[in-house]
Amino acid sequence: MSTTKGYDTLIKLTTEKLNVLIADSRHTPKFFVGRYLTRAHVTNPAPKEMTLSEVKRISAQFIDIVSIFENIGSDIDYFTETQGETDALEAIDAANSLMQTTYTPIYFAAEVVVGKLTSAQKTSLRAYFNKISTVLSNASQNPRHYKLGMYGPGNTCNYLKGYFPGLFTMSGNPQGNYSTWTIKQRPKATNEQHPTLNGVTVQVDFDETNASNYGGWQYHSFPSTWENYGNAVRHRKECSICHNYKYENHVPDSTGTRCTVCGFQGIIGGTQEAPDDEPTE
Ligand SMILES: [Zn+2]
Ligand SMILES: [Zn+2]
Repeated sequence: MSTTKGYDTLIKLTTEKLNVLIADSRHTPKFFVGRYLTRAHVTNPAPKEMTLSEVKRISAQFIDIVSIFENIGSDIDYFTETQGETDALEAIDAANSLMQTTYTPIYFAAEVVVGKLTSAQKTSLRAYFNKISTVLSNASQNPRHYKLGMYGPGNTCNYLKGYFPGLFTMSGNPQGNYSTWTIKQRPKATNEQHPTLNGVTVQVDFDETNASNYGGWQYHSFPSTWENYGNAVRHRKECSICHNYKYENHVPDSTGTRCTVCGFQGIIGGTQEAPDDEPTE
């Protein structure tokens, strides 16, 4: 398994700022950005929630998005069963609107150190996540089947993973002894600078993952019908986001000389090959 290195950030990724990250040398060729699904209710001057145009901009560069939900994730009194329901529904609504891919996780923030909690506080924290899990498991409330993730200190990840075995975890500081994270924020080196290009700086945390499925997603959309482009093997469709094509083989009629999907006329088959840069879905 190889390591993928990326970022998470509160900062809205305009074209200019996305270019700063693309040019930064601290990510692997294939990388991801953790971004927030909502502004939630935090009075924070940073425009932290994603927009659909930002999703399209990131996806068109074939960069994965990792969805984080954080409202008031650092106050233990915040975490109740009722709040879990509110947050789950709000996160699902945002993920739906942003065209987040089905069956990918939402990392719900719990920036509390479990070792400092009373047993009653731990019970409340579990109830919060249990309610989120229940809502996510309900296909009418979560028709796109988003999965449960959490973001917080390593030991808190470890604690909750004990109750929710399939949990996706994004381990922040302090890391503790937790080593089975899905994604880990790595501590910044002393004096390590944020990514900067042409005088533009993007404030980030640096992240890494060894998992092949860490929940990264992209939005690609193929609204048009299959196009006959004169290829004897395949027809194609253009993605309206990144303008790459996807391809499928012709579906011949009984005579084998016409595609019933795109209308290609001629002998179907042969050795003609599709371009090497076929995108994979
Ligand atoms: Zn695309
Ligand atoms: Zn066809």
